[in-house]
Amino acid sequence: MRQGMKQILGAFALVSAVFFGPFNQAKSQDTLHSPLPIPLKFSGNFGEIRTGHFHTGLDVRTEGRAGIPVLAAHDGAVSRVKVSHRGYGLALYLNGGGLTSVYAHLSQFHPRIEAWLMEQQYADEKWAFDGRPSSAFSFSAGDTIGWSGNTGGSFGPHLHFELRDARTQRPINPLHWTFEGSGVTQDMVPPEFRGVWVVPETTGTVEGSPDRFRWTSAYGEGLRVAGPFSLGVEGFDRLDGERFTHGPYGIDVWMNDSLIHSHRMDTLDFSTNADVAAHIDLPAWQDRKGRVHRVQRLPGNRLDIYQRTSGRSSCSVEPGDSARLEVLLLDAAGNETRTGLWLWGDSVAIAKDTLNPAPFEYNLPHRLEVEDVVVEVPANALYGDAVIDIDRSDSGRITVWSEARVTRSDYTLTVPVPSAFMGSGDPMVLCAVDEKGEVEEAWVSDERNGHIQVRLDRFGYFEVRQDTVAPVLGQPVLVDGVLSISIGDDLSGMDRWEGRCGEHWMRWGLDKGVLSYALSDGVLQDRTQEDIRVWCIDAAGNIGQKVFTLASLQAE
Ligand SMILES: [Zn+2]
Repeated sequence: MRQGMKQILGAFALVSAVFFGPFNQAKSQDTLHSPLPIPLKFSGNFGEIRTGHFHTGLDVRTEGRAGIPVLAAHDGAVSRVKVSHRGYGLALYLNGGGLTSVYAHLSQFHPRIEAWLMEQQYADEKWAFDGRPSSAFSFSAGDTIGWSGNTGGSFGPHLHFELRDARTQRPINPLHWTFEGSGVTQDMVPPEFRGVWVVPETTGTVEGSPDRFRWTSAYGEGLRVAGPFSLGVEGFDRLDGERFTHGPYGIDVWMNDSLIHSHRMDTLDFSTNADVAAHIDLPAWQDRKGRVHRVQRLPGNRLDIYQRTSGRSSCSVEPGDSARLEVLLLDAAGNETRTGLWLWGDSVAIAKDTLNPAPFEYNLPHRLEVEDVVVEVPANALYGDAVIDIDRSDSGRITVWSEARVTRSDYTLTVPVPSAFMGSGDPMVLCAVDEKGEVEEAWVSDERNGHIQVRLDRFGYFEVRQDTVAPVLGQPVLVDGVLSISIGDDLSGMDRWEGRCGEHWMRWGLDKGVLSYALSDGVLQDRTQEDIRVWCIDAAGNIGQKVFTLASLQAE
C-alpha cells in the first residue's frame, strides 16, 4: 500500500508546489502510531462527501462498541479539550511534531485529564467545555489518552481520527502516513466508477433531449450532444472486503487530451469546507445520496483542492465534430480506474421552456416578493447563477424553490404570520419541513408588523408554527452509579439545562437526548434526602423541570 501511494505522489511531484503545499509543510514524520489497539478498519475516509462538509478525518471502526483504549498517534501534549452534546462530543487534541491529532466522540478522557476537566466544570458551573489545559498533559506515541465512544454527532460507536497542520489547523489526509501498531486494512480495490453526467445548459441537448444523462460503458461508446453542457463524474472508493463506500482521493478529467478538471483530497480548510455544496451536484446528493463531482467550477466555490486548470466555463462540441473525454478516479493507496467516452456534436437543439424565470446573477443583490413573502439575497450569497421562485399554498406552506438548494452566505426570508397566531406575544418558529411536514430545522423569531424575518442558508418548504410546549423530562433512573433522565422537545430544540441539589451545582452532561450525572462526582454524598431539581429550557424560552431525591430512586 505504501508503495502504491509513493508512486502516485511521484507522478504528481511536478504540481506539488501548488497542490501539496500545506500537506508537505506539515509532514515532519512518515509514521504514526495506530490510534487504536485493534486493526484499523474505516467506515469513513478523508474528503468524502457529507451533508454540508467534506469529512475532515478518518472514521475508525471500534467493533461496534465503546470503551476501546484510544492511543496517542505521536508524542505530544494535549492542546485542547472539548466537551459538547453536538459535533465531536468529547474530543481531545494532541500537539506534537508539527501536527495536531484529534480524537473525537470519546466516552472518557485519561483520568488525569478527566480530573482536571471536572475541576474546571465545577468552577464554571457548566458541563460544555472548550479550553486548553493549563497543566502540561504530555503523552508518548502509543499511550492511552482516553476511551472510544459514541458522543456528540455520532451515530454508532467509532473513533473520528483527524490530523491537522499544527500551525494552520487545516486538516490533512491521514492516509498519507503509515500507521504502526495493529495494522491497517489493505486497499487493493480500485475506485468504482458510476457514470459521467452530461447536463445540457440553456438550449443544449444530450441524445436529443434537454434532460441530463448519465453515461456508463453499458450505454455504448459515447453520446450525441448539442449546445453548451456541463459535466459531472459519479464514483466512490471501497477498501478490500469492506461494505463501506468512501470518497475517491482524486479525479482527473481530460477533454481532447487537455486537463479540464483535477482535484485531490490532501488538505481541507474549515473556513471553506461548506463549499462542498458547490463541488457536488447537490440535488443528486440530497435526493439519492449520489456522489457526483462537478467538472466545471461554480464561481463562488472557494475550495483549494483543485489544480489551476479546473475550468469554470461549460463545454460544447461543434456539429459534425467529436471530442474524447477521459476520466481517472484515484484512491489514496494509488489504485486507479480509467474510463472514456466520445461526445459527438449534434445540430439538433430544442428551445428550453421560456416560461422559466430568469436566473439570479450570483454577483448581484436580488429581491423577490410573491404574495407577501419576501426573499432578499445579497450579492455573492449564491455559488452561481440560479433561478429562485416563491409559492404560497392555502395551507400556509411556503415554498422557496431554487435549483441551488443552499446559499454560500445567509439570505433573508420574510413571511407573514398566520392570523391565528397574531398578537399572541409568544415567539414564532419558522420551520423548514420536508414533504411530509416533518421539521428539519427551526428558527425562533419575534413577530413584527404581522411578519417574521429569518436569516438562513437553505431553500425548500417552510411553515410558521408556535412553540408553547415545554421540554419534557422523563423519569430519572439510577443504573451503575449514574443518574439519567431522557429529555425531549418539539420544534425549537433544547437551548440549555441545569441540575442542582439545593444550592449545589451538579455536572449533568447531555448526549443524544439523555442527561446524566455520575454519583462519583460526590455532590449527593450526605444529601440523599435533599431535592434534586433538573430543568431544561428550549430555544423559545419554555421551561420543563423534574424534582426528586436520590433516596426515592435508591428505594425502588
Ligand atoms: Zn468522522
